[in-house]
Amino acid sequence: MKRIAIFPGSFDPFTKGHEDIVLRGLTLFDDIIVAIGYNSGKSQRYFPVEFMVEKIKETFKNQPSISVQTFSELTAEFAKRNKARYLLRGLRNTTDFEYENSISQVNRNLNPELESVFLITSPAFAAISSSIIREVHRYKGDVSSMIPYKL
Ligand code: ADP
Repeated sequence: MKRIAIFPGSFDPFTKGHEDIVLRGLTLFDDIIVAIGYNSGKSQRYFPVEFMVEKIKETFKNQPSISVQTFSELTAEFAKRNKARYLLRGLRNTTDFEYENSISQVNRNLNPELESVFLITSPAFAAISSSIIREVHRYKGDVSSMIPYKL
């Protein structure tokens, strides 16, 4: 049976930190679905969701085991529908840990077969966040060193 993982997030935008988690995840899983969740809480996006789907596809165009989808339902439901038994997430710091800890408990309750797997960020990418990129981009700063594609 194939080991399918989903890597869910807002990805507004997708960063080199996210890319690193996905590529490292490939050593653990056969297929990874990058799943852009939209409309839950953070409904006002900076980068349109269709635009980000194209950019992530472009980033992984040479990796057939990585696909991209959007979803607007519970992550646990999306995973079940896609036969994914693993939920991949990245951890940068204790703030991420606190947040991830509580959502993984909720996801486990909603779908007991879904195992959350956490990868600690690579030091080179620890300082990268989507919110910093949005802020720099908003004021016309250069974000090219933080994203794996051209805007
Ligand atoms: P969410 O809105 O669900 O937190 P994000 O798009 O911000 O989604 O992040 C998706 C996942 O990637 C989360 O697990 C987050 O902790 C992780 N992540 C974000 N930035 C980095 C980074 N620089 N290095 C490693 N993991 C990261």
